[in-house]
Amino acid sequence: MSDNEIYDVVQIGYGSVGQTMAALLGRTGHRVAVFERRCSHYLGRESCIDTALYGAVHDSASVPAYFGWEAAGIIRYHDHVEVRLRSARIDERGGVVRGEVARTVRTRYLIGADGAASLVRDHIGAGLLLIEFHDGAHTFECKLAERWRDGRIFLIGDAAHILPPAVERRTTQGVRDAQALAWRLDLALRGFGGSALLDSYESERVPHVRALIDRKANGMGYNSFDVDVIVIGTDPPGLTAAAEIASSGARVRILEQRPLDPASALPEWAGKHGVDIRFGREVVGVDDNGVRVTVTSKDPQGRSYLTTARRYVAQP
Ligand SMILES: Cc1cc2nc3c(=O)[nH]c(=O)nc-3n(C[C@H](O)[C@H](O)[C@H](O)COP(=O)(O)OP(=O)(O)OC[C@H]3O[C@@H](n4cnc5c(N)ncnc54)[C@H](O)[C@@H]3O)c2cc1C
Repeated sequence: MSDNEIYDVVQIGYGSVGQTMAALLGRTGHRVAVFERRCSHYLGRESCIDTALYGAVHDSASVPAYFGWEAAGIIRYHDHVEVRLRSARIDERGGVVRGEVARTVRTRYLIGADGAASLVRDHIGAGLLLIEFHDGAHTFECKLAERWRDGRIFLIGDAAHILPPAVERRTTQGVRDAQALAWRLDLALRGFGGSALLDSYESERVPHVRALIDRKANGMGYNSFDVDVIVIGTDPPGLTAAAEIASSGARVRILEQRPLDPASALPEWAGKHGVDIRFGREVVGVDDNGVRVTVTSKDPQGRSYLTTARRYVAQP
């Protein structure tokens, strides 16, 4: 197929999850192309899943994988997406050496399977939400993309979620993303389902990954909520509330918008009762569904954090 024609699906990235997606799409018979900046399918960490998937993909003649091509830019039109590619290779130290050769492809749908530092995720402007588990000794950080779909563009695998090994085998969740998206795209390309069906990819997968994080946290001995109570702000009423709650044994996290001022000592009781204060966190959203409250906050670098609790106390 020449680059002047329009693909049904273009996928950026051919890691473990990308290979799964390509194998699933290959069975649908749609016009699919994959672009990967590495020079071969080999991922540098040998695993059975990669070898098995590579065989499956190569049995699917309709999924050409073009190696040595890096997506450099994305432009959206109402009925298709254009992807600018340039030649690339990975050097001995793992750095990307970019070439001059450029190429443009057009597609009806674009999949970002381009890993944790996803260009496709950046393009749709989806920041990463951080969910932390904290037990004093360890902090486990899970990251979820704010959005997994924007129009004709989708995220799967590490582009959509980065879970620490203690929480989950990451590839497993990525394979589930691929399964959830492949049949929806297949139906959409055959004229069924419309936008609501494609939206349901994200609404199915996000609660699943969130539930998995909660369950794993539970299994690891943590409360399935991050903390029991979130207190917003360190003004005197907030500190009094936090002190009272903490003295009854509840786990409290205070989110304070002001940056940490090393000159002002933290109240001694905070450490004693295990109250955890996060400075430089501006609260931008509170979602209380009656069972648990999810507070979204941002740090000065614009990173977003989700903290969940049974309840929260806001400053009057
Ligand atoms: C060292 C290491 C060991 C791991 N071990 C395990 C394990 O034992 N079990 C487990 O479940 N998980 C493991 N993981 C995590 C697991 O590898 C990832 O969760 C999984 O690979 C995610 O797959 P992915 O396809 O989403 O992303 P990736 O595997 O990261 O693949 C993304 C691909 O996209 C390509 N790419 C990125 N940007 C572009 C671009 N602009 N243009 C073209 N191509 C691009 C990259 O070259 C890469 O091949 C490990 C990760 C690492 C780094």
